[in-house]
Amino acid sequence: MSSRRNFIRTGSLTALAGITGMETAFGMMEKKSKPSKGLALRFLPFDLQLKHTFTLAGSSRSNTPAMLTRLEFDGIKGYGEASMPPYLGENTESATRFFSALNLGQFRDPFQMEKILDYVDQAMPGNCAAKAAIDIALHDLTGKLLGQPWYKIWGFDPSATPDTSFTIGIDTPEVVRQKVAEAAPFNILKVKLGRETDREMIETIRSVTSKPLSVDVNQGWKDKHQALDMIYWLQERGVVLVEQPMPKEAIDDMAWLTQHSPLPTIADEALQRLPDVGKVHGVYSGINIKLMKCTGMREAHQMLTLARSLGMKVMIGCMTETSCAVSAAAQLSPQTDWADLDGNLLISNDPCRGVQIVNGKITLNDQPGIGITFRRDPFA
Ligand code: MG
Repeated sequence: MSSRRNFIRTGSLTALAGITGMETAFGMMEKKSKPSKGLALRFLPFDLQLKHTFTLAGSSRSNTPAMLTRLEFDGIKGYGEASMPPYLGENTESATRFFSALNLGQFRDPFQMEKILDYVDQAMPGNCAAKAAIDIALHDLTGKLLGQPWYKIWGFDPSATPDTSFTIGIDTPEVVRQKVAEAAPFNILKVKLGRETDREMIETIRSVTSKPLSVDVNQGWKDKHQALDMIYWLQERGVVLVEQPMPKEAIDDMAWLTQHSPLPTIADEALQRLPDVGKVHGVYSGINIKLMKCTGMREAHQMLTLARSLGMKVMIGCMTETSCAVSAAAQLSPQTDWADLDGNLLISNDPCRGVQIVNGKITLNDQPGIGITFRRDPFA
């Protein structure tokens, strides 16, 4: 602000202060001289309650911290979400710090998405889930302003969505059988492996269902020859793909394993953002894209296009999330080979309704944006 304008404001404030009170006068002046028509961001913490304690090769937990976001422009509201499982290093405090540092009010045209999302990405390093929360809300907002869902804006065929897998965590045989029974509506089950009990897990599941299985080893196998033996054993038992079988650093061993594997291998922990697609090409058969890893829908769409052009398989995945982030990811699903979008089904306190699973298949709706409705506006 120029010193001349400062002088005028100070002078006017002094004159008005006695009549209406300084704060009111200042507010009126701000409104007159600088109308605020930019994007308005709000955010709040949301604790995702898991139906079952979730066990991975490395840890267990019964809740996941998340943040809900809302971007408002011209009276239209778009919603987003950051899901922050602890092992990824983000949390409510880091997300609050990130959102508070942003000045989205400077943007008066929400359709300048590249400019806005470049600004958000460059604001701080890391914070990928927090960035995704802005990206998703902006896509929801612009889709609503256009009156169209994103799968249509991208030109995807909604009937081409895959079945989603439903995850069965590592547990006792009794609990595993119960989880398989709960998974009745699903046509493909995802099994978490990477422990001593791998064969027992598969045999327990095979004792109650013959559905196709995908397995996620979460980097749990350390020896490539044992891994290959295990993959052949799994193939004989109806497993269709193997996700992240070995540690992400084991690039040469992983390339060897992919070359010899009778099943496609999918990179998850080994890949995060767009530049990583080129790095895992030739090392894995495909990639697992997750909005929380890659900063949201814009970059996920770019990764999808790049992986396809390189002849790689694509899976769309998620963290434990509400229907908000899952519905955002589902917009991309018609162009993927597999979907692992059960994150919203694993929580007991989903605040919104969006994509549905019908006979095991991801079923998109024709609502604009990311296709969600909140049961009650969490920001009201
Ligand atoms: Mg995984």
